[in-house]
This record gives sequence, structure tokens and C-alpha cells, in this order.
Amino acid sequence: MAERYEARPAADVEAVEVVLDAGAWELRGALGVPTGPTTLSDLLPAARAIADAVVGETSAAVEGLGACVSCGPGCGACCRMLVNVSEVEARRLRQVVHDLPEPRRGEILARFAAALRRLDAAGLMPALRRAGGLTPAQVDALTGAYFGLKIPCPFLEAESCSIYEERPVTCREYLVTSDPKHCAEGSAADVVRIQLPLKTFNALARWDVPPAEHFLERFVPLILALEWAEAHPHDPPARPGVELFREFIGLLKEQMGPPGGGPAPGATA
Ligand code: SF4
Repeated sequence: MAERYEARPAADVEAVEVVLDAGAWELRGALGVPTGPTTLSDLLPAARAIADAVVGETSAAVEGLGACVSCGPGCGACCRMLVNVSEVEARRLRQVVHDLPEPRRGEILARFAAALRRLDAAGLMPALRRAGGLTPAQVDALTGAYFGLKIPCPFLEAESCSIYEERPVTCREYLVTSDPKHCAEGSAADVVRIQLPLKTFNALARWDVPPAEHFLERFVPLILALEWAEAHPHDPPARPGVELFREFIGLLKEQMGPPGGGPAPGATA
């Protein structure tokens, strides 16, 4: 199956071909990318479009096998989990909150502050602040403790995401076919997640990292995104957009192995 993107040819924009072959489906199209100096933030909409396309194609393949995605409006069961966002998304969230009219901005900021007070009282702040440097066992412990506090994401309203168009890629990539009650209960053994052939978040978290640090992932817990972005407001220096975008596509393809090497569409985890 082919996904069509709309190229926007212009003097300073080049149509870059994107081909992602997951075996069960193929994503093929072109995205208009600036040729001049471009930041990661400039290309975040393109990265999100690819994430949405991968999620859409995989969901369709899974549903074609008879399963049913149970996520939807009014179900925010997963929005009390520890959610990580890439650094470029943290900066974007800060901007989104900054652009909100009052009193809404104040309400959201108050929710962030209240959540941070609870996390501090629970002694989780030191681990949250070094989330990218934790061992797998420490991540499991932090994830469990965080979920145990049942702190709703500050953007969750009436069990729906109030920033749906701006939600992080991690949120876009979390889809289940199991009963929502298992997500709400945190019973991991009963949660059936759709396994994506590649995760855009993994590429976002490694994007524009110096080659010597390519094994590093750069991400921030969503609940710390605003304070992190306040301290780190600027993207890495701008680079030619096409070069930056092709690097991103390369990071996506690295996860897939040879063409058609993604997992079977019904695979879940
Ligand atoms: S950003 Fe939206 S989808 Fe993601 S955890 Fe928060 S409320 Fe849920």
C-alpha cells in the first residue's frame, strides 16, 4: 500500500522521496523540505506526518486481520503513564503552552506545577531528571512508581487530549487492541500493544546527535518538558533542510533492517 504525500515544489523547497517498506505495507511519497538553513523544529511537522502515516498503515493492517484498535476519544487511560518526548517536542510543547490564551495557559501551568509537587513529594524527581541515563531496571521502577501516583497528564481534559494536533509522537505511537481497563489498571501482561515496524520517536530522540554519540537518545519526560525547554530554548544550529531530513529518514530505516524487514502486521507487544 502506498501513502501519498504532497510535495510542495518551490524555489527554496526540494521534494524529498520517502520510501519505507514494512513488508506488509509500503509508505511511498515525497515531502517538500526547505533547502536552506533549517532547524529540527521546522521539520517536526514532517516527522509527525510520517509517524501518523506509519501508525495509520499499521493499524489498518492489524484491523485487516480482525483485531480492533480500542484507543479513541474519551479514553485517556494511558495518559497517566510516564510519557517521554524528544527534545524538539519539548521545545514545541513549551511554545504551545506559551501561545495559549489566559486563563487557559495559567490552568495548564498550574497542573504542571501540581504534578511536579506530587512527584517531588514521592521522591521521583531525581530519577525523572536523569531519565535518559537510567538502567532498564531503574526505568521499570520509575515507570511503575509514576503510574502508581495516577497523575493525569496536564493536557488531559474529560479523558481526551486537549492538544491532540500537537500531542507528542510517543502518544501517537501508543495503540492497543486490548480492553482499555487493562491500560487503566496498569496490568502490563494484559495490555496488547500494536507493534510498529519502526518508531518515529526513536529517530526523533537520536536526530542531529553528533555521530560519536549516536547511541544516545535525547528525551525528556513530558512532565518536565516545560522546565527543560525553558533551560534549553534553542534548537541545535540550523543545517541544510534536505540534509537534516535525509538524516532523519536514515534513522527511521535503521530500525527496519532490509526492505520488508518490519514485523508482521499483526504482531503485538
Ligand atoms: S499529550 Fe495528550 S495524548 Fe499525550 S499523555 Fe498528554 S493528554 Fe494524553
